[in-house]
Amino acid sequence: MHELSLIQNLLNIVMQSASDNGIKKVSSVALVVGENYGVLPDALDFAFHVLTQDTMCAGAALVVQKKPLVLRCKECLAEFSPQGATCRCTYCQAFRTEVVSGRELYIDYYEGE
Ligand SMILES: [Zn+2]
Repeated sequence: MHELSLIQNLLNIVMQSASDNGIKKVSSVALVVGENYGVLPDALDFAFHVLTQDTMCAGAALVVQKKPLVLRCKECLAEFSPQGATCRCTYCQAFRTEVVSGRELYIDYYEGE
């Protein structure tokens, strides 16, 4: 379950930043998670709940914002969200595409006092 180590890393960043800013208690943490990142929202929730116990983030809300997978066609430069399992361009049917977004995972913001 790699969600645990992911959340641990993110919490380390949040807590470091919070203590740098004189924040004693974190009340919410917002993440942006790409649809194609390969994590389960429930597993993120669970990991967050477990790992925040007895920390300054205990009881904080986890806000997960999902980002859809977006590809850019290298032939016609159109951007699209792939339908189903194929990554073919929906406009010109080319196979050469690159990922624009949908594979990210980062902290959007956190709140505390
Ligand atoms: Zn295309």
